Amino acid sequence: MVSRWRQQSDRVALVPTMGALHEGHLSLIRQVREHAGRVVVSIFLNPTQFGPGEDYESYPRTLAQDVELCRREGVSLVFAPDAKEMYGTGKGEYSGYISFRISRMTDYLCGASRSGHFEGVLQVVNKLFNTVQPDVAVFGQKDIQQWFLIRQMVAETDQPVEILMGPTRRESDGLAMSSRNIYLNEEDRKKAPMLYASLQRISAVLAEKAGHDDQRPVSLDTSLLEAECSILRENGMNLDYLTVVSTPDLQPADVIIPGRLYVVAVAAWLGGTRLIDNVLLNTNAG
Ligand code: AMP
Repeated sequence: MVSRWRQQSDRVALVPTMGALHEGHLSLIRQVREHAGRVVVSIFLNPTQFGPGEDYESYPRTLAQDVELCRREGVSLVFAPDAKEMYGTGKGEYSGYISFRISRMTDYLCGASRSGHFEGVLQVVNKLFNTVQPDVAVFGQKDIQQWFLIRQMVAETDQPVEILMGPTRRESDGLAMSSRNIYLNEEDRKKAPMLYASLQRISAVLAEKAGHDDQRPVSLDTSLLEAECSILRENGMNLDYLTVVSTPDLQPADVIIPGRLYVVAVAAWLGGTRLIDNVLLNTNAG
């Protein structure tokens, strides 16, 4: 079907997801529609990117509703394979003889605490790209480390697919939309927007410091991050990280060089739910 579209000179876009679609996913569909005549949405809860003890079993599965949402958005094809179709075998039986090895870019952020996660992500995205052969694919800024890794994979493996970034869609109180937000109890749901508030305060301070006319590098004052960590901890959050990294290498930054792009990123546990969020710090100089 996809090759027929291509013969008709339709550009093909891919929006990879794990299902349980929300407005964030739908915004990616709408964004990519501007770049391609045909939009394919993949819905695949990829077992190889979940570590032991993570929420693979309990992750929300809402396929019928997801397909209906895609239909309403004018999606041309929903590709929803099961693990057997994807890997030839079920979870655990997959040989994993050949896998991606990632250096440096997964040393920090989620890569540091989710061993094997990004290898699983690249494995499945690579398979999806080979199966669907899209001209363009979009991934959310919400999963910023994933975005930079996929862009790197595409560059290093010469895959002819353009990678777009979709801005993070938020609830009205600032909480980044996520399929996992439904796990939050009432009290934690009220606290969750504090993550974004912290990111905004940090980026405002850094942008202001780096925005001065002299264009000099600004050293990162660790007390700025520590103060925000304390606020989040005092509110019962168990922080995995709150950090500033440079791009595209995703290494911790100790200075902010005007004109370069940084990411202020956070991951925290609220009860049994791990939430992530980030803001881009574009110092816009030079
Ligand atoms: P997931 O189903 O969580 O794997 O997400 C599928 C795609 O949607 C990924 O590219 C995510 O980065 C993106 N995404 C998830 N949450 C949001 C959001 N709140 N706003 C925009 N994109 C998102």
